[in-house]
Amino acid sequence: MNAQELAARHEAVNEDAESYWLEEAKRLDWYSFPTTANRSSFDEGDFGIRWFEDGELNVTVNCLDRHLATRGDRTAIIFEGDEPGEGYSLTYAQVHEEVCRFANALKACGVGKGDRVAIYMPMIPEAAFAMLGCARIGAIHSVVFGGFSPDSLADRIEDCGAKLLVTADEGVRGGKRIPLKDNADKALEKSPVEAVIMVRRTGGEVNFVEGRDRWWHDLREEVSATCEPEKMNAEDPLFILYTSGSTGKPKGVMHTTGGYLLWVTATFDIVFGATDEDVFWCTADVGWVTGHSYVVYAPLANGATTVMFDGVPNYPDFGRFWETSNRLGVTIFYTAPTALRALMREGDEWVKQHDRSQIRLLGTVGEPINPEAWNWYHEVVGDGRCEIVDTWWQTETGGMLITPVPGAVKTKPGSATLPLPGVYTKLVDNDGKELTGPAEGNLCLTQSWPGQMRGVWGDDERFFQTYFTTYPGMYFTGDGCRRDDDGYHWITGRVDDVINVSGHRMGTAEVESALVAHPKVAEAAVVGMPHDVKGQGIYAYVTLNAGEPESEELRQELRQFVRKEIGAIASPDAIQFAPALPKTRSGKIMRRILRKIAEGEPDKVGDVSTLAEPAVVDALIKGAQA
Ligand code: ATP
Ligand code: MG
Repeated sequence: MNAQELAARHEAVNEDAESYWLEEAKRLDWYSFPTTANRSSFDEGDFGIRWFEDGELNVTVNCLDRHLATRGDRTAIIFEGDEPGEGYSLTYAQVHEEVCRFANALKACGVGKGDRVAIYMPMIPEAAFAMLGCARIGAIHSVVFGGFSPDSLADRIEDCGAKLLVTADEGVRGGKRIPLKDNADKALEKSPVEAVIMVRRTGGEVNFVEGRDRWWHDLREEVSATCEPEKMNAEDPLFILYTSGSTGKPKGVMHTTGGYLLWVTATFDIVFGATDEDVFWCTADVGWVTGHSYVVYAPLANGATTVMFDGVPNYPDFGRFWETSNRLGVTIFYTAPTALRALMREGDEWVKQHDRSQIRLLGTVGEPINPEAWNWYHEVVGDGRCEIVDTWWQTETGGMLITPVPGAVKTKPGSATLPLPGVYTKLVDNDGKELTGPAEGNLCLTQSWPGQMRGVWGDDERFFQTYFTTYPGMYFTGDGCRRDDDGYHWITGRVDDVINVSGHRMGTAEVESALVAHPKVAEAAVVGMPHDVKGQGIYAYVTLNAGEPESEELRQELRQFVRKEIGAIASPDAIQFAPALPKTRSGKIMRRILRKIAEGEPDKVGDVSTLAEPAVVDALIKGAQA
């Protein structure tokens, strides 16, 4: 899309949003085309998020059936397993058949419209069949990341009241087997379901409960290959997904059918603009919203080719992403800053030994990408040739909200740039007063967009309380943001993580970026610590590049370095060298835990169940800089 086309969209939606959205709604096939678009209100009296209220459609008709006539033989999903080359491709016609069978299997197990289905799976095509199978019959899926523990799975099954669980015998990641069914059995002791569908992934030995468990490959043979899609209202729930838990107890974010599908379909097209020549690879797991929106729903609704990857970036070596991209002919690559920083510290050779000339567009999501990593992505991975889209969004937003549009918006390393058409941001101070011009404050959205979440599952009050009461009349994102002279947005991190040094409010992203810019530093996380004079001091956790020795001199050097980059105010008061940082399963740094350690209250770190490696916490407590 060029700058004029993008400007025309902004103009159209600003002038007459209702017409713009009804026009956009034509991206989808409806049984009954909606007569109204936005009927949302952020105000207490008539609060509610409502889009296309009288529209009727089915998500799978949009993702599959409507492509059959023209592109039934086109590749829909390329599966790439844990071992390089372990995989296969499926056409739209094949995926359509599998989804119909899965839908019928769910029905055969007693699942119907409105029932909840938990999905605890590896990144194999059957995970997508299960999600789409639910959507076909109007059941509501809740995908739980396959790396979660039995307890985490049990909590989520219980919270959403799942009737059935879809799982696999085992998963395989980085050459290691993950006992999915064993974990599931443990979870089900705590939170039982009526039925389990189990997919055979490895053929490993597993427990089988007669009367409750069914093998997918058996069921598949018993059911029909056609399944009439359920007519769904636009506002019928499509899925529940628990947030990654960076800040506390995960919330069961609920998305509905029409608005969500339209939002992901439109943003995928506007930002990635995939054509028939493209192979799109989003490395996220379907356990996260990125996997829902940009591995499954958006690519399929657009008739694109999507890669499902069941491995990890460092197996069998640090070149995996680039080896696989080359082999599969990937043209658009979308990943997380945490993965890039991990690869960057291993050196450029892993990238350069693979041909990347077919890649044309690179994207990131999940955390602020520090300019250092942005530049590496651009120069080394993209050979200075590919545009980068730094896409800011949340589980709650369904799809991307702030991102450059390639061809239309000039990028600046580290900035998510500008809101998409129909997205209205506002920066406010802590009293809710609007900040105009270049400023730094709390990022809010003043109007609804179709992909906005509709509620917290089972807790209507929590939705309004969490997002709409801090700054009445607006959706508060929880993120801090700086807006520069060009109106570009720079996400500074979560507002809860802001550090106040002698009255100066500082986002975590800026200080971390300065540290990461030092050639010896791979990753950094900063938090506030109590300080007698300044109120709060800066406590930095620093991970060094592979093989780099720790020393007191280096600490001094890093302090000087930050002082030079940002100013004396940002110079860390304490620096702890940390071999690893506590991260959520989706790879986000959990500063809440780091803060407790820095505050000298390690016994109060709280819930660590969503951490990827809980053992990291003990190591950090031992190395704390008193
Ligand atoms: P929880 O809400 O449970 O604490 P979470 O916020 O990590 O978990 P997600 O919805 O997966 O769960 O993440 C959204 C958050 O990720 C955003 O609010 C923002 O802080 C961060 N984020 C995502 N993309 C970007 C980006 N491009 N730049 C900066 N930050 C980003
Ligand atoms: Mg969040």
